[in-house]
Amino acid sequence: MTGKESFRRRLFLYYFSIFILFTAVILAFQYNREKKIRIAALNTRLNDMAGLVDNYISVNSLPETGNYLMIDSIFNLIPVPDLRITIIAVDGSVLYDSSVEEWDKMENHLKRPEVGKSLFSPYGTAVRRSASTGKEYYYFSRYFNTYYVRLAEEYNINITGFLRREKIFLVFIAVVFAAVWALLALVTRRMGESITMLRDFAARVRRGEGNDPGIIFPRNEIGETGKEIVRIYNNLARNTAELTLQKEKLFRHLHVLNEGVAFLSPERKVTLSNNHFLVFLNAITGEHTIEPEGFIDHPSFAGVRTFIDRHQGPSARQGEIPSTEFHIEKSGRFFGVKCILFNDGSFEIVLTDITRTEQTKAMRQQMTSNIAHELKTPISSVRGYLETLMVNRDLDEDKKQYFLEKALAQSIRLTELISDIVTLNKLDETGSSFPFESVDVGSVIREVRDNLITAIKKKGISFDIEIEEGLTVTANRSLVVSVFQNLIENAVTYAGDKITITIRNIPGAAGYHTFSFADNGIGIPEEHQPRIFERFYRVDDGRSRKSGGTGLGLAIVKNAILLHKGEISVHTRPGGGTEFIFSLPA
Ligand code: ADP
Repeated sequence: MTGKESFRRRLFLYYFSIFILFTAVILAFQYNREKKIRIAALNTRLNDMAGLVDNYISVNSLPETGNYLMIDSIFNLIPVPDLRITIIAVDGSVLYDSSVEEWDKMENHLKRPEVGKSLFSPYGTAVRRSASTGKEYYYFSRYFNTYYVRLAEEYNINITGFLRREKIFLVFIAVVFAAVWALLALVTRRMGESITMLRDFAARVRRGEGNDPGIIFPRNEIGETGKEIVRIYNNLARNTAELTLQKEKLFRHLHVLNEGVAFLSPERKVTLSNNHFLVFLNAITGEHTIEPEGFIDHPSFAGVRTFIDRHQGPSARQGEIPSTEFHIEKSGRFFGVKCILFNDGSFEIVLTDITRTEQTKAMRQQMTSNIAHELKTPISSVRGYLETLMVNRDLDEDKKQYFLEKALAQSIRLTELISDIVTLNKLDETGSSFPFESVDVGSVIREVRDNLITAIKKKGISFDIEIEEGLTVTANRSLVVSVFQNLIENAVTYAGDKITITIRNIPGAAGYHTFSFADNGIGIPEEHQPRIFERFYRVDDGRSRKSGGTGLGLAIVKNAILLHKGEISVHTRPGGGTEFIFSLPA
């Protein structure tokens, strides 16, 4: 059965029931009215008849003669053969009854309702089944001073007779019903169409097929409602799509985040998490799971549990988003844990790998204490010399000169130290303050060598420079100068006398120029080589300090190379001496 048919069938049933009810009410009303009219007519007729009987009794002086049997002859005068006439004495005894032979044996009739009523009213009536005939009778009684005349007639005001008489009315009602139904069917056909469309639309939506743009609702109230529903559905569908898109974006964003993020329900079940969360979780717990489920029970997350226990539940204040933060350390790695509790009792945990930050922090602390340590020596030396000069005013000029020169040398060393620290800091902070340009490597080497010529000559050092004529690197010139200056200074200071410094460009990675900087001096013992680029690291601390080294030279070299995205390594040459190999962008 289609939707339209079932709708109309139901409508027909409703309509039919209402019509039947309506007809029944009208008939009941009609029936009552007719009954009343007929009873009134009956009463008039029986009243007249009672008057006739009374007249007959008076004319024939029946109370005096007591010959009530004469009343039988009345039936010749009236055209009502079934009429039953009873004459009842004031005391209730029956004086005559047209239907009963031996009326003198009949029971007292004063208790009969119609008789009782007629004593105080013009007449009394009652309807009941006769004990003697078994039929239903209409009893009519009238009081005439010395007796009652009671008349009884078969009571035949019944429904069947009524309906038979109302046949025309019933036919009329049926015709009206059919006509109204035809009209109603016509009107509801269009409504039925709208309802069917609405039903089809609902079924399509339920099946997830979406709206059919081909559906055009008829122009009636249900059609308008249908259109409105479709409009609301379309809006909803658009919003859902938008929401799905946003959710998708959020998921993608979560997966590219460097932080590990997990969302948990108020029951502490993970509802959403990203890959990083799982990776960090495995590092923290030391277990290799592929599901974050149940991680909250791990001892490392006790802080989260305490926080949630304290803030979750009805005591949580609306509008406030409580959060907590702490660190977890596991096998040298550091993780920041942040927990944010939402109003609905759900919460978010963000894990951040802060190992690098922590290491940098440790390095900075180390660096600061190293700097303080390095500064202490020259400062206390200068102070010592100056105090000696102040206290011993009578020192001879040569001695005074000696202390002044010493103090000067230490202050120069301080300046160098500070300048090295500043350079390294600059390298650490940002490379953007070092503009890049095309730098002619050969000219830089010659410039540095010329600057240091006095020391070079003093040590009898010779150079073997095999750099292609006009070879350039894309770099910051002052940093390239710094690289070669530190390397040459180191060779001059530490490698020994009469050595040869060989500087060549050698084959290497594409896009870079690779250089070899070597000397044939005393070399750097292999056990020191891995740490040689660390800040303030010296091979022979005492000797190195004495020779004015800050321990920062090679750290500056390495950082300068790294800033250019180049590489640097150190090793011992086969014949002895040190060789640095490094690259700079072409
Ligand atoms: P500094 O600034 O004090 O010279 P560096 O970081 O430049 O410190 O050098 C670190 C250590 O490496 C020096 O103390 C020195 O012992 C050693 N060194 C550097 N270059 C050479 C070299 N060419 N030959 C031998 N030893 C060297």
